[in-house]
Amino acid sequence: MRNTVSLDKTVAEKKMLKPAAAKKPAVKKNTGEITLAQLESTESVAGQVNTADVLIIGAGFAGLGTAIRLQQAGVKNIVILERSTDVGGTWRDNTYPGAACDIPSNLYSYSFAQNPDWSRSFSGSGEILDYIHHLVEQFRLRPLIRFQRNVTGLVFDENTGEWNATTACGEQYRARAAVMASGPLSNASFPNMPGIETFKGHKIHSAKWDHSYDFTGKRVAVIGTGASGIQIIPELAKQAEFVKVFQRTPGWVLPRPDFVTPEWNKNLFHKMPAAQTALRRALFWGHESMALGIIWHSPLTALVEQVARSHLHAQVKDPWLRRQLTPDFRIGCKRVLISNDYYPALQKPNCKLITWPIATLCENGIRTAEGIEHQFDCIVFATGFDVCKNGSPLPVTGVNGRQLGEEWKRGAQAYKSISVAGYPNLFFTFGPNSGPGHNSALVYMESQIDYSVQGIKTILQRNLKLLDVKADVQQRYNHAIQKRLAKTNWNSGCKSWYLSEDGFNSTMYPGFATQYANQMKHFNLDHYRAINA
Ligand code: NAP
Repeated sequence: MRNTVSLDKTVAEKKMLKPAAAKKPAVKKNTGEITLAQLESTESVAGQVNTADVLIIGAGFAGLGTAIRLQQAGVKNIVILERSTDVGGTWRDNTYPGAACDIPSNLYSYSFAQNPDWSRSFSGSGEILDYIHHLVEQFRLRPLIRFQRNVTGLVFDENTGEWNATTACGEQYRARAAVMASGPLSNASFPNMPGIETFKGHKIHSAKWDHSYDFTGKRVAVIGTGASGIQIIPELAKQAEFVKVFQRTPGWVLPRPDFVTPEWNKNLFHKMPAAQTALRRALFWGHESMALGIIWHSPLTALVEQVARSHLHAQVKDPWLRRQLTPDFRIGCKRVLISNDYYPALQKPNCKLITWPIATLCENGIRTAEGIEHQFDCIVFATGFDVCKNGSPLPVTGVNGRQLGEEWKRGAQAYKSISVAGYPNLFFTFGPNSGPGHNSALVYMESQIDYSVQGIKTILQRNLKLLDVKADVQQRYNHAIQKRLAKTNWNSGCKSWYLSEDGFNSTMYPGFATQYANQMKHFNLDHYRAINA
């Protein structure tokens, strides 16, 4: 049966959707165990051990989706640990002006919870966060979530076959299986720039927007012209006295086919859900065909580059500015940007593109390499995230004391991006080599979730102490992945967050979304070492 969510909300409903503030944990020593049912009505207590069948770390899209699919598969004893005070992950954090998704909403949503009421083809971050809140209410996830629980360590107990999670407030959680859903883009990264501490004005990171700061009449710098930067700049240019954009590398920009959804369209989707499913399929295959140009170097690559060049020509008349905005790397190597208002914003009288490298930040602003000091009231860092490519998102100890951070230091590896040998009963969402460059992340996420659910059900139904992917299976899988990656545009020579400092690609999946989803359909127990409890 198809689930739909309606996003028309009253103020009262909105209030209801706000999470209750997590209670401060009592500092009381208690080593007794409590069950999930007790947990719901119990304040967290430092030192207390809370048990569940499944522990999910992170209440973003992936964590919540996993909880939904687990419940639908009959697994109910779930705890979700969330470090913040609200659900939503990247869509809770990225609230900068202009924040929106660059994948159409009908595809950037769960197939099992389609929303007939998207207000436009590419929805803004607020509407996506509303959708996530509705998932929480519709699938009654709130009782499962423990807010303000920052997991500081995860240790596998080989004797009991359980994962033990410790939180910053001293609680312990124990579960038969754990799902790491902490998200690849969850840690905002200020660049390591000389003089960053000396700047006396206001500093804002795109992923931690300061809504109390009024940009009206302010002298503003934006550092970074990636997916976040190009969305922020047009909005700031409407308000600030001037905006100077510090570009290190120009990106490829494609037009954004963004439209308001007409009422008849919403009504149609309400009355005929199959019509929305058909649109979703069409969007999926449209994006899928883009893989040929974006992931690999093919005749389609030149065609997509030509579309981007024509977009630049149509929007920027000044040949010098056009030259400054023309990328010198193959399309797809970095994330392809889509925007209709970025180039026009740069040409506003109060906006200026600066391409000189930044030498240092200083007390009053930014000094560029040719010696000019630009003075600002505020510097906006649209400089991306600290993506965990080497090391693990948090300390994880597997069998025989193995440390995931150490093992991943030279590049993260997993089997099908989900399982890591030596770390049994642990499942990753958006683990190594699972990133898409051409299609919706949620399509990948759904197949990861369904695969994890199969693994978790295998552990619980067969009463396994340990379900551990075989090391040789994982090795063969990664060997093939890296061989395929070598032929992709991502590995064609540019610098991006997809690659580690030494050029290792542990982030992207080198294939069609269909290939990824197909390989995730079946959980092959032969690829795992299974030991009964
Ligand atoms: P990003 O793609 O990593 O871009 C960071 C920008 O900051 C780049 O232009 C980079 O220049 C620049 N930069 C970083 N350090 C710098 C330094 N020290 N000096 C000068 N410039 C510096 O980060 P992002 O724009 O936040 O996007 C990150 C990812 O988030 C995207 O790839 C995408 O997956 C996701 N995202 C998605 C959406 C969406 O619509 N779905 C929106 C926003 C973000 P270089 O290019 O030279 O490195």
